[in-house]
Amino acid sequence: MRDKNELTRLYSKLIKIMKSYHPSSDFTMINQAYEVAKEAHKEQYRKSGEPFFIHPLHVAIILAELKLDKETIMAALLHDVVEDTELTREDLEREFGHEVAFLVDGVTKLTNFSVEISEAGLSKEELKLESFRKLIMAMSNDIRVILIKLADRLHNMRTLQYQKPEKQIEISRETLDIYCPIAKRLGIAVVQTDLQDLSMEYIYPEAYRSIQQKITETAHDRKKFVGRIIRQTKAGLNEAGIHADVQFALKHLFSIYRKMVNQEKTLDEIYDIYAIKIIVDSVRDCYIALGVLHDLYKPVPGKVKDFIALPKANMYQSLHTTLLAPGGRLFEVHIKTQEMSEVAFYGILARWKYGIPGENVQTLSNSQKEKAEWLMQIMEWQRDISDNDEFIDLIKQDFNLFSETIYCFSPKGDAKALPKDATAIDFAYSIHSEIGNCAVKCVINGRECPIETILNNGDMVEIVMDKKQSGPNPEWLDIVKTGTAKSKIRKWFHEREEER
Ligand code: MN
Repeated sequence: MRDKNELTRLYSKLIKIMKSYHPSSDFTMINQAYEVAKEAHKEQYRKSGEPFFIHPLHVAIILAELKLDKETIMAALLHDVVEDTELTREDLEREFGHEVAFLVDGVTKLTNFSVEISEAGLSKEELKLESFRKLIMAMSNDIRVILIKLADRLHNMRTLQYQKPEKQIEISRETLDIYCPIAKRLGIAVVQTDLQDLSMEYIYPEAYRSIQQKITETAHDRKKFVGRIIRQTKAGLNEAGIHADVQFALKHLFSIYRKMVNQEKTLDEIYDIYAIKIIVDSVRDCYIALGVLHDLYKPVPGKVKDFIALPKANMYQSLHTTLLAPGGRLFEVHIKTQEMSEVAFYGILARWKYGIPGENVQTLSNSQKEKAEWLMQIMEWQRDISDNDEFIDLIKQDFNLFSETIYCFSPKGDAKALPKDATAIDFAYSIHSEIGNCAVKCVINGRECPIETILNNGDMVEIVMDKKQSGPNPEWLDIVKTGTAKSKIRKWFHEREEER
């Protein structure tokens, strides 16, 4: 009886969240998916002893919190029925339509796939890349499949305490290696940081607890310090006529831990375990606010980062600065608009809400034009590339691109984000296929250089073209660093071959 109440309670919660963002009040189909899935799973129980159906309900709630569409929520409720019950894809198709059946089928295939490859005797590295490849392929068919999979993993991580210790570590590792980078690449920080902290709790339990303890111990002192900074900042911004919301936020445990490991520091030596977050009304106000803060406190040289003019690959935008408070204490400040703040949390999902620049996109759906640029690119790769190894190469590069990025500029001042060690050929292809195909040499910071030259952060690059050139050099395939350049070069050769 208690379990039944719990299911009803969770279902009401789901509907309540959906009503808060979904314009329609007709939830008949959601209710039908709920009833069908509940009935199908009725004999099954989780390791915790609770009815199994608790799980898909939680997954649906996570996705509703991300404001996803009705089809995704229905598919979330039904995501384990094909795998674990008598129901088939055809049953779902008949009752809920093609879209929902397609999403459930996508999730089921991913589940089966991870079992298949874990039995295929691959090395750790191969296993990781295979998983990436599979997830990204699924994503390019319909990104909602991956979103359901991420929510599924998040709920399984939240209930990992019921698994055996070996299983806990194995699942946490996989989460950290495969699912976190995907969530990060999509910019969905709300999911990524949760997955990271949950994995850390199982993989590095001592570090997890000691950081947590330290944060609690220092809370009182920090509160006093931050309170003063916030008051001064608010007053300064107010005086400058800037309307702003000033808050402070602790960083996530895993990001603190990673910083300690990377910089070989103890927690006492790390000043940025929190950041002051300032939300203003416009991009212009972001820069004015930065000026106000640099007038109030001394900025630390080299720590000012302008991710507004130069957004990260996952669309993150913000101004970052580190400041010195009287008394010698350092603190970090992030300045954003409301829209940037939503992109910082929801990444690609916020982008759907605000639309891709130049397009008017209101809701998440599967139509091509509504996909973000990066996903479009992946779809293009997939069409162009039949060779598995090459696709894996592209994925590797793309995920590396995210970890170490350099920015190069066209003579007009357009910035291009490229992976470290990218060449002028990569730069040329990042502007346009035509420019890459006709590139013969380049001018870097005013000096003529071969087109194969490796670029440095901040280089101003001009591509010299020769329209009479017969196309790219096949050797470039071994030189270029970006997936875009590689696939565009391949494409050129494929097209020539077809003409013959
Ligand atoms: Mn599941």
